[in-house]
Order: sequence, then structure tokens, then C-alpha cells
Amino acid sequence: MSTLLEVKNLKKYFPVPSGTLHAVDDVTFTLDQGETLGIVGESGCGKSTLGKTILRLTNPTSGEVIYNGRNIAAISDKEFVALRPELQMIFQDPMSSLNPRMSVKEQIEEPLLIYKRYPDRAEREKKVLELMDTVGLARRYADMYPHELDGGRRQRIGIARGLSLEPKLIVCDEPVSALDVLIQAQILNLLMDLQQEKGLTYMFITHDLSVVKHISNNICVMYLGQIVEKCETSRLFSHTLHPYTKALLSAIPVPSLSKKRERIILKGELTSPINPKNCCRFAPRCIYATDECFGTAPELKDVGNGHMVACHRVAELNDLSEV
Ligand code: SF4
Repeated sequence: MSTLLEVKNLKKYFPVPSGTLHAVDDVTFTLDQGETLGIVGESGCGKSTLGKTILRLTNPTSGEVIYNGRNIAAISDKEFVALRPELQMIFQDPMSSLNPRMSVKEQIEEPLLIYKRYPDRAEREKKVLELMDTVGLARRYADMYPHELDGGRRQRIGIARGLSLEPKLIVCDEPVSALDVLIQAQILNLLMDLQQEKGLTYMFITHDLSVVKHISNNICVMYLGQIVEKCETSRLFSHTLHPYTKALLSAIPVPSLSKKRERIILKGELTSPINPKNCCRFAPRCIYATDECFGTAPELKDVGNGHMVACHRVAELNDLSEV
């Protein structure tokens, strides 16, 4: 598989009255063509800002975003506009990302009009209906408005819009978290089918590890703007190494009355992302923290088979021979 996206030392800082907020802090990863990378973490960990910075919805503070061999963080706005159709985003809440005054067909048609695709009206309308078929949205909804549809159908409009310009990379920002479980499964299956059919590459952002388990090839776990664990999806679940990832995993319900997973409840204060100190940002909530954790930031290191972990005590707390 060839690499489609390479993110190198990406930072996004925001000036705030009390200093500088480090929303994304030195994030590095690669994403191969046709694969899905899950980005997981609690609300406020910087995962959505990471997605927006990669797609230049907000400009990076520093770092590189190499898409198809070009650093798109450094190209001009004009050059980026020409690339925009290849890089799309699906948002969490379709109700706020869709225009309430536009019908379903108008919403899907809008990107085609902006990018002057299918100038012939009849052909454009045909394309809109084909896109509705692709995302499983019945044609009878074409003249309806978002408020007349349920959450699942609204999200299908968002996906049809995302697909309309034939993208290569789609950043899916919590695309199923506003939906009930049954609809979540339908939308996830639809995204996976579309990936197979069209060779799409996804960056899938979520707070829910159980959701990315089924869709991702690799997972990055983020904590306060930084990646703390990164590896293949199956490895993350079979050999969880970072204390924070273990806590996240313990929160996934087990669908069995006989089996029980011990829930790790995180206590302690969250480290401030404003002017953070040189320390492990998870230290105030980590039961294994030592003086070293409060005094030096751990590096993200390969502990075997490409399994990357940022923890001073990873070798002490785990049997790395099994990794
Ligand atoms: Fe916990 Fe220390 Fe590891 Fe951070 S570096 S996760 S505080 S043991």
C-alpha cells in the first residue's frame, strides 16, 4: 500500500488570555491509501482540531501535512482550493452542518455547483440521484428538508455531499456519535462498503474505541493534544500498553452476563493544555506516576512490531516480550 497522508510534527496552538493553548502538540503519523486510521480520545483532547488542521480548515502553527507527496500545509490558498475536492470531511452533527433551508437534492448538488461539475442541469440532477442511491437514501426524500428526516438519513446526506466531488481522503469527525446504536451500525457498514467500492482512505475521529475497532486498520490514542499509543487495531485490543488506553478500554461494555471487565475510574485533575509543563500530561490521573513522570515528558517510542507508546514505565508495567 502506498502512503497517501504523512503528518509530521504537526502543532496547532491557540493564543488565550492566560498563555498558549496546545490543542495539537507534535503529532506524527502516516496513513496508507485505502486504509482507515482511527483517532481516539476524550472530548477536548484535540482530535477534531487535528482533523481540521490537516484539512486546512484552520492553519497549523507548524509541522507538515504531506498529501500525495506535497506538503499541503505550505501551499498557497489557490493551490489548496484546487485540491479541496480530494479532501473532504463528514461532520458529527448533520443538523448543524446542513443548511436547514435547502432540500436534500440542493444540499447534495451544492458542491457540484461550486466546483462547476456537471454543468448540464439534467446530468447534474442525475448525478445527485445516483449519489442518493449510493448512500442508501431513497429518491422520494429528494425534495424534503433536513428537519423532516431522522438522524441516520441526515448523516447519509452529509456522506453524499462528501462523496460528490470524488474525494480520496475523508476525515470522518464523530460521524455516528449522535446516532442510536442500530443506525450507527448501518452508517459504519455504509462507510466500509464505500471504502471497498471506491478505494477511499479514512481518518476516523471518535471518543468511542468500540466504534473504531470495527472500521480501523490502525489506531492513534490521543491525550491532551499528543499521541500516547499508536499501533494496529487488533494489537491495541490484544496488547494494550498505555495506562490511559487501558482506562478507555475498560469503559467499553461487555455484552455478556458471565464476563465482567473491571472498570478503571480515572481520578485526579486534568493537566491544563495551556502552557503545559515538560511532563507526562497523564501523570495527575495515572496511578503509576512517579517523580520522573512529573518531571519529563515521555517520548513516543516503538516497543516492538511498530507498537508506539509514550510512557516511562511501559516496560515495567507490561510484558513486552508478548508485543
Ligand atoms: Fe503513567 Fe508515568 Fe506512564 Fe505517564 S509516563 S502514563 S504518568 S506511568
